[in-house]
Amino acid sequence: LDFFFAGEISNARHNPAMPELPEVETVRAGLARLLKKNATHAIISRIELTRGDIRKPIPTTVVTQLTGQTILGLRRRAKYILFDTAQGSLLCHLGMTGSWRLAPPGDEREHDHCYLHLSDGRRLAFRDPRRFGLLDFVAPGQDTTHPCLAHLGPEPLDEQMFHADYLLTACHKRKQAIKPLIMDQSIVVGVGNIYAQEALFLAGISPRRRAGRLRPTEAVELVKHIRHVLTAAIKAGGSTISDFRQAGGSSGYFQHQFNVYDRAGLPCTRCTTPLRAAVIGGRGTTWCPTCQR
Ligand SMILES: [Zn+2]
Repeated sequence: LDFFFAGEISNARHNPAMPELPEVETVRAGLARLLKKNATHAIISRIELTRGDIRKPIPTTVVTQLTGQTILGLRRRAKYILFDTAQGSLLCHLGMTGSWRLAPPGDEREHDHCYLHLSDGRRLAFRDPRRFGLLDFVAPGQDTTHPCLAHLGPEPLDEQMFHADYLLTACHKRKQAIKPLIMDQSIVVGVGNIYAQEALFLAGISPRRRAGRLRPTEAVELVKHIRHVLTAAIKAGGSTISDFRQAGGSSGYFQHQFNVYDRAGLPCTRCTTPLRAAVIGGRGTTWCPTCQR
């Protein structure tokens, strides 16, 4: 049971990259697996906060509402992880360096901000050295109105909500470049800087293309590749965690799969043209001037 150090993947060599959707989903799945093994005992017997704030103050309702509650499931919305109970949810954002781990007695570390004591004696620790993370309480029925969760676009892996027609409508007459548009959380959540670049490369679309000039066939390709890169990274995350245990070291992001991210000046993996780099929408961006138009 003590395999679980999934959150530690956010301490990646890629500094200062934030954990993106696949990393967060990997942490969520790892936590869910951990809790499921003792499903009937996943009761929060005590919540211990070692400080009152992380990025923002931790509301007292985290303790008053969730103590004694059974964790019914682990959900991800955008890059938030929600520990669901009948009385509401514990909302967690990993920020840049947040991680969850099983912390047996004696395993207290600097920057552990919160301990969830479970009724079966286990203890989960939330650690976040740089404190860009977040812990908050979401009352029942506040899933779309809580300040962190309101104004979020659809999940990229949700085929009912995020599809080519939706993307085309969102792009309609927009002069903004396509890359910042697909990274806009109010349009679609969880497409961060790494995977936006990869998806645009695979779809053959320049990150500088005006969103309003996206063609319907390209929207189909872009949606398909956004889903593809995220799904592949989530799958790689699973294997990364297994490797992690054997190696006992930091695996970092799933960088071996990248075609363009962080490869400025290097040859395109498809046509060998040197990759170009520029700041687009405030974020460093790399692309192939031949393959992406
Ligand atoms: Zn190329």
